Order: sequence, then structure tokens, then C-alpha cells
Amino acid sequence: MMDKQALWDKCVAFHGHGCGGLTIGFQAARYAMELLELDFSRDEDVVCISENDACGVDAIQVLLGCSAGKGNLLFHLRGKQAFSFYNRKTGKSVRLVLRPTPEGLDKEERFRYLQDAEPADLFDVKPAVLELPEKARMFQSYPCDGCGEVTAEHLLRLENGKKLCLDCFRAYNRFDV
Ligand SMILES: [Zn+2]
Ligand SMILES: [Zn+2]
Repeated sequence: MMDKQALWDKCVAFHGHGCGGLTIGFQAARYAMELLELDFSRDEDVVCISENDACGVDAIQVLLGCSAGKGNLLFHLRGKQAFSFYNRKTGKSVRLVLRPTPEGLDKEERFRYLQDAEPADLFDVKPAVLELPEKARMFQSYPCDGCGEVTAEHLLRLENGKKLCLDCFRAYNRFDV
């Protein structure tokens, strides 16, 4: 296991800059690793559901190996600095919610505050309420009868017996534009 500084450097390299937001994800991922006995996920054993799509998500990708392509990084966008983590191997899960940070700090002071804090002082630990998502499934694909583009079947809609992708299907929907 790399030390804290080396892990942080990896996150900064991936994200492009070191910021307060990245630190939130960094601290959440470290806390989750401790609480759920997680390590970098080579497969889908670790799942994260993030309630924001801000800087911190990048640190979670780096530290825990959660990524959109592997299907173990999911979004439940609520505009909250909250993350649920699941360990499929043990069935353990946790939801970490950032506590309000002290008011009146400038950007640099807030960054230092987040960097220097112990994860346990930053986050409330709550039960994960969202159900553990099923593992990424493989779907059949068919060409859309509208645009001809090959589309996974769970995102096709039927209209007068035609298979339509969501972009073509919407074009037919006169009630809900
Ligand atoms: Zn950032
Ligand atoms: Zn189409």
C-alpha cells in the first residue's frame, strides 16, 4: 500500500490539479477503505454511488478503481457531498456524508482544512440506503429502425412495432417534450 502522499499525488495527476473538491473524494475513499476493508478494485467488488459529479469523484476512481466503464461507479445526483460504498465480497456498505465545513475560510484555508482533517472528523457515517446495484449486464443490440444506429436492447423502445432508440423515440412523443 502506498503512503498517503503518494496516493494523493496519483489523484492530482489524474484530476489535473489538487483542489478542495478532490480532497473530499480522497478522504471519503480512504475512510471507506478503512471502514469496509477495501482495496483497489480490479473487478466489480467495490461499488460507489456518488451523489455529485464534482472533483472528488476522480479521487474515488483512482483509489478504489471504481469507473464508469467497469460499471462500479454510479451516480445518484442529489447535489450532495455524499458517497455510498459497497463491498460485494463481504456485503458491507456505508454512506459517507460530508459535514458542514467551517464558515469564513478562503479557498486555500478550506483546502488545508480538508487536507489536514482526519476522515472520521469530516464525514457522518450513515447506512447506505440505495440498494446494491446488480452487476453490469451484457445486453443484445439491434439497429434502431429510425436512425439505423446499433443500440442496446434495454434502451430501445417499441413504437408501432418498430424498435427505436431513445433519441428517435422522443421525436415521436408529442405529449412529453
Ligand atoms: Zn478540482
Ligand atoms: Zn435512432
